Amino acid sequence: SITPRIIPDLIKAISSTINQHADAITELDQAIGDGDHVFNLQRGIEALQAHSSEIAELDWSAAWQKIGMTVMAAIGGASGSLYATLFISLSKQTKDKPENLESFAEAFVLAVEAVKQRGKADVGEKTMLDVWVPVAIAFKQDVEAGKHLADILQHVCTVADAGVEATRDMLATKGRASFLGERSKGHIDAGAQTAQLMIAAITSVIK
Ligand code: ADP
Ligand code: MG
Ligand code: MG
Repeated sequence: SITPRIIPDLIKAISSTINQHADAITELDQAIGDGDHVFNLQRGIEALQAHSSEIAELDWSAAWQKIGMTVMAAIGGASGSLYATLFISLSKQTKDKPENLESFAEAFVLAVEAVKQRGKADVGEKTMLDVWVPVAIAFKQDVEAGKHLADILQHVCTVADAGVEATRDMLATKGRASFLGERSKGHIDAGAQTAQLMIAAITSVIK
C-alpha cells in the first residue's frame, strides 16, 4: 500500500509542475483575479518542503493534519484556506480508518465536500471545485468498481482535464473573478488549472 513516505516525492513533483507553468498560471489569475495564485501556492509548497521528511514518518491521518496546518500558516488568499480545509478534513476522515484505497476514496469525497462548504461554492462556479469534485467522484467510483490503479489514475487525469476546460465558458460566481461578472467568461480559472497540474503530477509519481 501507499504510505506517507511517498509525500516528499509528491511535493517535489507538484513543485516542479507549478514552477514550470508559473507564467501561464499567473496570466490566468491576472486575467480574472489578482495574479498572486502561483505565489500563494509556492509559499505553501516551500513550507511543505521544509517539513516533508518529518511528515513522511507519520501515519496518513497525522500527515494530512500536519500538511493542512502547514498550508494554513503559509498560504494567504482563498486557495490557502480552501486547501487547508481539504487536508484537515482528509485527516479527520482517515483517522482510525484502514489505510487502503477504498477508505481514502471515501475520505477524499468527504474532504472535497468540506471545501464546498468552506467556500460556499459548488461545481459550475468557475473554481478549483470544477476539477476536485468530478475527480473525487470518479476516483471513488473507479475504486469501488475494482478497476486497476493504473486505469483509475488515467481516468482521473482525463476528468481533471475536462474540468479545467469546462471553466473557460463559465460565469464566475465565487471568488475575485465574480467581481467581473460576464467578463469572467472566456478565461480558464487559475485554481482549476493548478488543481489539474497537481493531480497530473501526483498520478505520475504513484503509477
Ligand atoms: P485569491 O483569490 O484570494 O487571490 P488565489 O489566487 O490563491 O487566492 O486563489 C484563487 C483561486 O481560488 C480561484 O482561481 C478559484 O479556483 C479558487 N476559489 C476562489 N474562491 C473559491 C470558493 N469560494 N470556492 C472554491 N474555490 C475558490
Ligand atoms: Mg489570486
Ligand atoms: Mg490574492
